[in-house]
Amino acid sequence: MDMIRNDWTIEEIGTIYHTPLLELIAYAANIHRRYHSYREIELSTLISIKTGGCPEDCAYCAQSARYATHVDEPQEMSKEEIIARAKELKSKGIPRVCLSAAWRQLPPNKFDEILEVIRIIKNMGMKVCLTMGKISADQAKQLAEVGITAYNHNIDTSENFYPKIITTRTFKSRLETIYRLIEAGIPHCCGGIIGLGESEKDRISMIHTLATLPKHPFTIPINALMPIEGTPLEQNKPVSTWELVRVIATVRVVMPTTHIELAAGRIQLNDEAQALCFMAGANAIFVGDKLLTAPNPSENNDIRLLNLLGVKQPYADKMNLKVIDI
Ligand code: SF4
Repeated sequence: MDMIRNDWTIEEIGTIYHTPLLELIAYAANIHRRYHSYREIELSTLISIKTGGCPEDCAYCAQSARYATHVDEPQEMSKEEIIARAKELKSKGIPRVCLSAAWRQLPPNKFDEILEVIRIIKNMGMKVCLTMGKISADQAKQLAEVGITAYNHNIDTSENFYPKIITTRTFKSRLETIYRLIEAGIPHCCGGIIGLGESEKDRISMIHTLATLPKHPFTIPINALMPIEGTPLEQNKPVSTWELVRVIATVRVVMPTTHIELAAGRIQLNDEAQALCFMAGANAIFVGDKLLTAPNPSENNDIRLLNLLGVKQPYADKMNLKVIDI
């Protein structure tokens, strides 16, 4: 039942999703232990190289130029600033950076500079991921040649619910970029957000879309909405830990080898809730006090929690903190 499959039916995923919670967690945990180690959690840090002023209208996002949020004028980092930030992260033991830009699509006139930045950071011995909107087949080919670790392009929610959240692009156009990545041989990082007002049916449908791609995502970021003042979703209620854990466990069961990133909204979770998410299959987090424009747990708090849970990673070693062996 837990083989790598791309032919899941929506009914099968619905049955897994609705399994009584403790059974579902136990099932997911068994699969997780078979394909991953509870002693390892992938760490990366986002560098927002262009913040704000985005022409898209994603209803949850502080960076959309259409909403009056705490993000004012667009800001762009220079090549030197990006490299300096990557060096600083490397010195702390962060192995991977994800360069993020609030663009509708990766602008052709910036592309050569981005490639150069990737080469420099890779030469420093770090992994580099990108999230910069839609890309062409040719750009995908060049990014594959330069050896990026993954390209993030989320589908956010189900195909049906998508137009309620974003009207400036289509679910189909999102998938087209993901197919371009797969064709170019770039690992795709693709996930979604819960708490947008979607139904459980939408969550199951989103997982089904990801699980039936020709290749399962390298990473699936699972975000819990952090309602942002000024956006259309500012009044949405936070999702419960139980809903989050159910989504993570279902993803783990149907996509055993994928990394599951416990992404935005982690600051709303206490130690026990995060531990439960890791138990259910989450095995990647963003570290750093800020997640683009949203708050994230402090570095000290993350090091403390990773140590408490017995997770081995160089981040804590660099900070001279002992990893508990279990
Ligand atoms: S989520 Fe990305 S594409 Fe959508 S408005 Fe924000 S920055 Fe733009």
